[in-house]
Amino acid sequence: MSRPPALTDALLTALRGRVCASTSDTYTTTEVFTGGELAALPASSVADVHTAYERAAHAQRDWAALPLPERLGVFHRFHELLLAERETLADLLQAETGKARRDAFEELCEPALVTSHYLRAAGRLLRPRRRRGLLPGAITVVELRQPKGVVGVISPWNYPFALALGDLVPALVAGNAVVLKPDSRTALSPLFGAELLYRAGLPADLLQVVLGDGPTIGGAVVDTCDYIGFTGSSRTGALIAARAGERLVGCSLELGGKNPMIVLDDADLAATARTAVRGCFANAGQLCLALERVYVPDAVFDRFAEAFVEETGRLRLGAGYRYGPDLGSLTSGQALKTVSEHVDDARAKGATVLAGGRPRPDLGPYFYEPTVLTDVTPDMLCHRAETFGPVVSLYPYATVDEAVSLANDTEYGLNASVVGRDPVRARRVAARLRTGTVNVNDGYAAAFGSTDAPMGGMGASGLGRRHGAEGLLRYTEVQTVATQRFDLVTPPRWLPYGAFSRAMATTLRLMKKLHLR
Ligand code: NAD
Repeated sequence: MSRPPALTDALLTALRGRVCASTSDTYTTTEVFTGGELAALPASSVADVHTAYERAAHAQRDWAALPLPERLGVFHRFHELLLAERETLADLLQAETGKARRDAFEELCEPALVTSHYLRAAGRLLRPRRRRGLLPGAITVVELRQPKGVVGVISPWNYPFALALGDLVPALVAGNAVVLKPDSRTALSPLFGAELLYRAGLPADLLQVVLGDGPTIGGAVVDTCDYIGFTGSSRTGALIAARAGERLVGCSLELGGKNPMIVLDDADLAATARTAVRGCFANAGQLCLALERVYVPDAVFDRFAEAFVEETGRLRLGAGYRYGPDLGSLTSGQALKTVSEHVDDARAKGATVLAGGRPRPDLGPYFYEPTVLTDVTPDMLCHRAETFGPVVSLYPYATVDEAVSLANDTEYGLNASVVGRDPVRARRVAARLRTGTVNVNDGYAAAFGSTDAPMGGMGASGLGRRHGAEGLLRYTEVQTVATQRFDLVTPPRWLPYGAFSRAMATTLRLMKKLHLR
């Protein structure tokens, strides 16, 4: 077995103990840098998912009854532990995903930012709100936020820690329990997240982790939980929405993207090339927000392409549990196959490969060079389909209208970037893009890191939002409690209904005039 330094026997035993699994079935995960075996983990059955749900539901009743400040105490301690244990976490993340250590550090910042945001904002967002009653003075109304119950969180392999913990922390803060089903290939880091939450004082059983095949174990989570927070592909997202819909259970879906960058004609080309390189190749392009299409004005296309290729050439690829390499490995043989297919297909159909374009087995089994393409045409796979790897296509455009229309010509609508010296003009272009986030003068981190603002996708990129008010309130049911102090809406017995309706019509007119209703 190839093990990162922090994965001691004691830690592995503790992490295995966090899985809700009753049988002796196990499966083995891969250390991505070498392709060797990493860890044997317990596999859950469908019956285990039901057990996980029951245990979680039981624990949730007491949790929801705790005053919010007491619940929040756990997350203050969790935030501290998260930052203190960052090197252990980075080891686990690198081992199971093959990402560069800087990407692992960036990943753990997401749950830290989400946690500190909701520590500040939860009181304001969850408190009861007075609403205007039907008749002022006669009826008082308060809007309450009740937890959903047990939230099922289903998360993917590319950011296995951030997308599990970043989505389950607000669910817990809102008074829910959680059943988490991470991708089983990358389960060590989310299990470590569960371990840290329990170390921080999370009550027993409140967070359950189940591991196993997506359709079977993930399907059982969708069939049992009271709400589903899903992150993954658009194809699976549609299946989950339909399955949740059959039970009339709500879901939020954070799905794929084919994210564009528009370079405006006043952009600083050297600075834009640097921004674009990070936006395209962070996490070896295995980032839902990564830029896969860059639109550049005709007049500066060649100069930009040259600067971009030069910046790309500066990226250092490499394996190892240390800071240094800018880019790590792809996470699996499947990812490498898709990336190779997209590039080979584009090359065969006439695209020009300006940089990269080949695997790097000398560095590890799944490494692929950061790749820059031009002359990409609609018949090529990488034109519309999400590559989800270190591959970007550069396209020239004549007018901003054309660039906007090309950028919007996709079924996806997750993230976009607009770069230009004049921020007012760039923001005007941003508002014309059909994506859930737009980063002006950045690729993705400006919007994704701003956890006070919602983040998510339009079109095939999803339903609902994480972060912001929406990211917490999606895990709540809104309940209206209206208290009638005296009855003004039922006509007295002695009054004919015709006379009552005339009086009510006059009252309604008057209240509108006085802005009371
Ligand atoms: P995927 O849909 O194959 O799997 C995601 C999760 O769903 C895994 O845990 C998997 O086991 C589970 N799953 C699979 N089939 C299921 C089913 N039928 N029922 C229930 N659960 C099931 O996605 P993936 O390939 O692991 O992840 C990559 C995709 O995720 C890319 O498209 C990427 O853009 C997207 N993604 C989106 C975001 C976002 O925030 N919008 C973030 C990261 C990744």
